Amino acid sequence: MSVLNMFYSEYNILWPMVVALIGVFSVFWLKEHKDFFGILFFLFGGLFFTFSTYLGQNDDILYAWGLNYNFVTFVEMLLLLVSSVFWINSAAELYGNKAANREALGLYIAFGLTVCVYYSFIIHSQSTANHIGTIIINACLLLLLGCTMLRLLQDKNIGNFLLCLTVILLVLKSLAFSLLPTIAVRQLNILNWAWFYVLTFAVVFLKQKQTAVELQKCWNKIDVLNLQMNNMIDSSPFPIIIAKITGDKLLLVNSMASQIFGISKKEVPFHKLKDFFVDETNRQNFFSLLEKEHAVEDYDLMVCDLINASPFWLSVSAKTIEYNNEMAIYMAFQDITSRKERESNLQSQADKDPLTMAWNRRYFEKFVPERINESIKKTQNFSLLLLDADKFKNINDTYGHKFGDKVLIELATICRNSLREEDVVARFGGEEFVVFLNNTDSESALKVAERLRQTIENASIKNDADEIIQFTVSIGVVSSEKTASLEVLLRQVDDAMYLAKHRGRNQVAFYDEQEIKHLLGKKGKNAEQNLHPIFQNEENEEISLLDNYDNKIL
Ligand code: GH3
Ligand code: MG
Ligand code: MG
Repeated sequence: MSVLNMFYSEYNILWPMVVALIGVFSVFWLKEHKDFFGILFFLFGGLFFTFSTYLGQNDDILYAWGLNYNFVTFVEMLLLLVSSVFWINSAAELYGNKAANREALGLYIAFGLTVCVYYSFIIHSQSTANHIGTIIINACLLLLLGCTMLRLLQDKNIGNFLLCLTVILLVLKSLAFSLLPTIAVRQLNILNWAWFYVLTFAVVFLKQKQTAVELQKCWNKIDVLNLQMNNMIDSSPFPIIIAKITGDKLLLVNSMASQIFGISKKEVPFHKLKDFFVDETNRQNFFSLLEKEHAVEDYDLMVCDLINASPFWLSVSAKTIEYNNEMAIYMAFQDITSRKERESNLQSQADKDPLTMAWNRRYFEKFVPERINESIKKTQNFSLLLLDADKFKNINDTYGHKFGDKVLIELATICRNSLREEDVVARFGGEEFVVFLNNTDSESALKVAERLRQTIENASIKNDADEIIQFTVSIGVVSSEKTASLEVLLRQVDDAMYLAKHRGRNQVAFYDEQEIKHLLGKKGKNAEQNLHPIFQNEENEEISLLDNYDNKIL
């Protein structure tokens, strides 16, 4: 057993070093392969350590326990084999040469099995066994040296150099042990320590290098992933913005968003998310929903671009996320301007008279009471005009219904063009138009009505025979100076228009209670309505101003 003594004589540090080495490589192994073999390796490492301790201290103890010499030798050899297999395998693994690793592993198994079988069952002479054991160990060490040198040639670094040196020292030690007399070997103890330190440094260096390389690889991977993610976000067809939750500062604006919001990438750090919002209530509602739910989907936001501050609609899906260790809002937008335009077109279609494109009665009834409330709040006067085309039936009868339509279109166009944006022109019935004049007292309303009447009087339309046809209107005028009740004012303006008709048409008439009473006799209001020429004419197809008028709106 003298060859094995090299691993366990008391003054020889080699065997604990082997165990330490197994421990070190076990760590690598387990780190790389968390599988069955890793665990097995640890198990054999532990067994080797335990047995070696006992064997190294005193063989006689084992024999005293009644263990067979051949059995003990077999176990020693087996453990040596297994440890060596894993050792070389781990070393090869560490070098990163997996192909060489497998070859070395196969070679070692073949060597080991042969020697175990041979040593246990065939050879009983100690000297032969020693001889064979020495050959095997030296062969293994030479193989290891080969691997190490190959590795050093491939990658010249201190770790590989130290590993190479370690194996050289081991070979020297093994050769000395085999060739020199025991006394001389004892004097070579320095080799054991040197071997140990060099190996330790080599392992530490390689481990550190491996860790640094792995770390660098991880960083590189992270950089690549970050780049990919940024590219993906940047090339997204949807505008995307990431902003800090606290302070609202912009962190990321992708190309689409910078285009749509008119902000260059350089300006991003100097802007806040709220710079894009137009409607404060809309913004607050959005943020309170996000705060509550942490995620908002398809929320319609009114935003603006920073260049010309023109507002537009976007649908946003937002989420609170962690971005670069900060809590942030991730917002992906969708341009819904065309949808909103479609919606508003549909809405205006529903609110407009299809022939004249003036507002319809439904819109007037819905919208004007709101405007009246605003006027009352602002203590502003407003006025109403009621225009009725004169002898329109004659126009229809003389030039045809189609031409009559043309006249109505012209009439509405003149009204729209002559009045302000804030005024409301609505077609209330057949050839009747009501006008709401915002912030206008009776005096101004009369002027506006007169101007309108004259413009209409001077307008001319060509019929199919290219003849120039002119038409006139009678206009009733009332103002909110005495009452702001829309219901009352509508009745009064109807009466005023009747006065204008009565006075000879193509006139403007302000509501005059006395005159209308006088005109209609001393009858009640309802009777007055029934006396109105519009209601008396059975052929009249128009919808009356007051038909279906709903009191609840007022
Ligand atoms: P007055 O001066 O008293 O108002 O006389 P008028 O002929 O205008 O009064 P009347 O109420 O008798 O006639 C209104 C006519 O308007 C009757 C109807 O045929 C016509 N009318 C109503 N709606 C339309 C329309 O959409 N197109 C055309 N072409 N005519 C319409
Ligand atoms: Mg009429
Ligand atoms: Mg008429």
